[in-house]
Amino acid sequence: MKEEDRRFEQEDHKGSCFACSANLTDSRLFSSFRVCHSCGHHFHLSGPQWANFLLDKDSFQEDDYTVSGLDPISFGGPRNYRENIIDAQKRSGLSESAYTGHGTFFGHEVVFAVLDFSFLGGSMGIVSGERLARSFERAADRRAPLITVLSTSGIRMREGLLALMQIPRVMAARQKLVRRRVPHIAVLADPTTGSSYAGFVNLADYIIAEPDALIGFSALRVIRERETVPEGAHTAESHLEKGLIDAIIPRHELQPFLGQILDLLTSSYELRMTEKLSIPPRDFSSLEAWPTVQLSRHSNRPSTYDLIQRMVTVYVEIHGDRSGSDDPSITCGFGLLGGEAVVIIGQVRFPEESEKTGYISAGGFRKARRAMRLARKFNLPVISFLDTKGADPSLASEENGMAAALTNCAEAMLSLEVSTIAVVTGEANAESAVSMGIADRVLMFQNSVYGVISPEEAAKILYQDVSQAEEVAESLHITALDCYNLGIADEIIQEPDEGAHMNHQEAAYFLRRAIVRHLAELASQRSSTRLRTRRRRYRSMGNSRSRIRNVAERSVGKLVESMEEYFPRRKKPLKRPADEYIDSSEIPF
Ligand SMILES: [Zn+2]
Repeated sequence: MKEEDRRFEQEDHKGSCFACSANLTDSRLFSSFRVCHSCGHHFHLSGPQWANFLLDKDSFQEDDYTVSGLDPISFGGPRNYRENIIDAQKRSGLSESAYTGHGTFFGHEVVFAVLDFSFLGGSMGIVSGERLARSFERAADRRAPLITVLSTSGIRMREGLLALMQIPRVMAARQKLVRRRVPHIAVLADPTTGSSYAGFVNLADYIIAEPDALIGFSALRVIRERETVPEGAHTAESHLEKGLIDAIIPRHELQPFLGQILDLLTSSYELRMTEKLSIPPRDFSSLEAWPTVQLSRHSNRPSTYDLIQRMVTVYVEIHGDRSGSDDPSITCGFGLLGGEAVVIIGQVRFPEESEKTGYISAGGFRKARRAMRLARKFNLPVISFLDTKGADPSLASEENGMAAALTNCAEAMLSLEVSTIAVVTGEANAESAVSMGIADRVLMFQNSVYGVISPEEAAKILYQDVSQAEEVAESLHITALDCYNLGIADEIIQEPDEGAHMNHQEAAYFLRRAIVRHLAELASQRSSTRLRTRRRRYRSMGNSRSRIRNVAERSVGKLVESMEEYFPRRKKPLKRPADEYIDSSEIPF
């Protein structure tokens, strides 16, 4: 949309910003986005203004304006509620707080709903509830993504318990959207508080907030009656830090950001092989275990972020487990790899001098599990990067459900219907690595290690002497070649001469090439075949014949593939399956 098309009429705030007193008369940022150029304050937008600003020009059409109602429980009280509503209608120019309709967004049909604070504080009553519920159903029926923008103070007390019942009403309508795997993105403007925030918003696939927006379930006034509220609490920023929302995006960047997410979640491109590639087995020069451990920990070894940014063209992170933490030792997000949208789950190791421990917390496993759930819902392959010291050994993490979170993460990896590829990029240790490394293909960088415990810890246990780590490292069979021979790794990825730390770009290139090839191979299989093969693979782990068995299973897999080629499927599987998706979001992990 051209900037001039987006300009708002300067019917008010002509003069100065009430937050910082800057003169807004000639402010381009204010006229285009209603944002103060000086302090960044985001001014309120009404429902029609949001629709005009966000959607394609003149594409929005209002729906549900005939849904109306007044004073459902004949509320008494000091002021006539009916008159109150009529006054609000005159003042705001809206018929209710929910302003709903549909339009196009970068040419794609979307359903759009706003809860507008200028109508009785954006509070939700039965009319707004019905309008929102219809929006969810409309989006499901049309299989068009739903974008909701919220600016609300909660539910409308003067409609009694019926107002509160709008929460399950909207959630009930949402079920259809979930079953049809249609994305819902929520945008939280200032303020978003109360029951409306606690309802359908927290079930959105991706939650964005505007900078400095007041956000929270309880009213700030109520919290202040009980305790001192620290500076910055109850805001978009504090909610992002606690992993309760996914991103804070300034208004002038919102449109392209939303476009990227929707492109990723509704992607209809899939990698396909045009000819079978035969990869000759490579004879990697294999270092001994201890020097390999040193290389896997090299301070300049490419981190998960280094590899991601060199491998994908777009990467949109999700943040947090929605349970109160956003573990920085795990990054999850949607990326575009070779033109195909994928979900990335990466373990992030921090430099020794960093204050961050690099141990994964329970919240980290829950975040990864959330990413897997999104991958399953939107039928996107999962790629995990393994490089971790292990699970956080603190009591706090223990009491925060570490064991359950880790186990649920592993179980989800094992059961995912989508293609999964795990890559050991550095030093992958213990259960934390395994829980995100159960995959259709396990790849290992030439100088990476994958073990049950760090050699130093093992030496302490066995000899009570860390200096024995070198010898123990050899015994643990942790190199890429060891793991390949044990049937744990499927392929060893070449590194630049002397190691990945010498050239991140080249290392990422080798890895990307291998991942793309495996993705295309896996895409040619039915999901049931993939799942069955994955289960068999892990069911047979530890067999003394596991290597032979692994090779045999691969041969059987290839035979099945050729048969599938020879006897074409009756129906080509759709990128977006027509079958309905059963939501597992109510599972706490
Ligand atoms: Zn200002």
